[in-house]
Amino acid sequence: PVALDLGPEATLRGADYRFASTARLQHQSEVESNARSYPRRIPLELRRAEGIHVQDSEGRWFIDCLAGAGTLALGHNHPVVLQAIRGLLDGKRPLHTLDLMTEAKDEFINELFACLPAEFARDARIQFCGPAGTDAVEAALKLVRTATGRSQMLAFHGAYHGMTQGALSLMGSLGPKQYLDGMISGVQMLPYPYGYRCPFGLGGAEGERVGLHYIENQLGDPESGVLPAAGMILETVQGEGGVIAPSADWLRGIRRITREAGVPLILDEVQCGIGRTGRLFAFEHAGITPDVLVLSKAIGGSLPLAVVVYHKDLDRWQPGAHAGTFRGNQMAMAAGAATLRLIREERLDQHAAAMGERLCAHLQALQARYPQIGEVRGRGLMLGVEIVDPQGRADAMGRAPHNRALASAVQQQCLRRGLILEVGGRHSSVLRLLPPLIITAAQVDQVADIF
Ligand code: PLP
Repeated sequence: PVALDLGPEATLRGADYRFASTARLQHQSEVESNARSYPRRIPLELRRAEGIHVQDSEGRWFIDCLAGAGTLALGHNHPVVLQAIRGLLDGKRPLHTLDLMTEAKDEFINELFACLPAEFARDARIQFCGPAGTDAVEAALKLVRTATGRSQMLAFHGAYHGMTQGALSLMGSLGPKQYLDGMISGVQMLPYPYGYRCPFGLGGAEGERVGLHYIENQLGDPESGVLPAAGMILETVQGEGGVIAPSADWLRGIRRITREAGVPLILDEVQCGIGRTGRLFAFEHAGITPDVLVLSKAIGGSLPLAVVVYHKDLDRWQPGAHAGTFRGNQMAMAAGAATLRLIREERLDQHAAAMGERLCAHLQALQARYPQIGEVRGRGLMLGVEIVDPQGRADAMGRAPHNRALASAVQQQCLRRGLILEVGGRHSSVLRLLPPLIITAAQVDQVADIF
């Protein structure tokens, strides 16, 4: 299928892109994912999906640059994934086992460990979690708190780790925390190196250095009031927070100071892991390894799966400490193993790096033409475009303020022209592009044309 250029007004039923079923869909989306319902609501009812494309109930094709926020690494209905799922559906293999070992589980573990850097894999253990990233974050919290006997956690401004109570308490913005009363109270928030209109008025390498110094003081200074932490959790590249990729130096600095302070480092690669950033894992860009790695989204090959991989020295929790009936779904493991194998064998991480560079170059060319594009950033096929108001009041660095309304308008106009992308970031002003890793150069050009 090809995405059709629908033209600015073509085939729309009304200026507002409404469907007869919009009210129902909106209600449904509010119930299913309240936090994501505005302003990212995309009123499409999907009928078909193939590769990087989806088709709606009106027969229109769209390029899916949302791709389940990075879940669909191989796009929709990849034949290799379908074959793996069908292989399990021969009427003889176990579809559910709780804790027992199976062929599918064994294969998934082997594939995942083949993807991990050898120095990390060598001493690593795996914990299967409930079927979502947020539950793997809960497991990681439990793991480091049990291992250290401490309770305080260190997390970052702008962070998103999921919506269960523990994960929510690590969230880097206040809004959704209203549900939190009395859950994890000891969470210290630290500055993530967000250079665009960052609170210190410092961008780039200088801002990172100052931020890192501040964090180091917090961890090392007994007068700082910070209790020894059970762990530090960070997204190697922030996704929901607006696609922010810290430098390799900053990540190495974080690794050094957590090691010196004896604080286990949890890297949440739920969104940025498995090839998306141009390496199999985003931490590989910095040549570091975490103590705990949280994975979900792409590892299930479009089906729900989440795991925590951790250093064996942290394994001081009781067997069954993170029990759950639906940990490690068999079909997701089969789909996930096939996905991981294909990404590794076909070097789709390298392909993502090349396609990401191409898309980034297109977006930077647009930035040179349009002052409404404040910044183009990200890594590999995890890209964000910061939409700003050039007429608004600039900060000390001369940077224009965020423009949420325009970001949302661009999203809607892209949708009209056959491109699905997401708006996110701390100020809902970042257009996020996370196409499947299988996107071709011609398709990248088409995305840029529409954009
Ligand atoms: N961690 C990160 C970095 C995420 O981006 C997300 C989801 O977007 C989560 C955790 C939570 O995953 P889930 O939505 O599967 O619970």
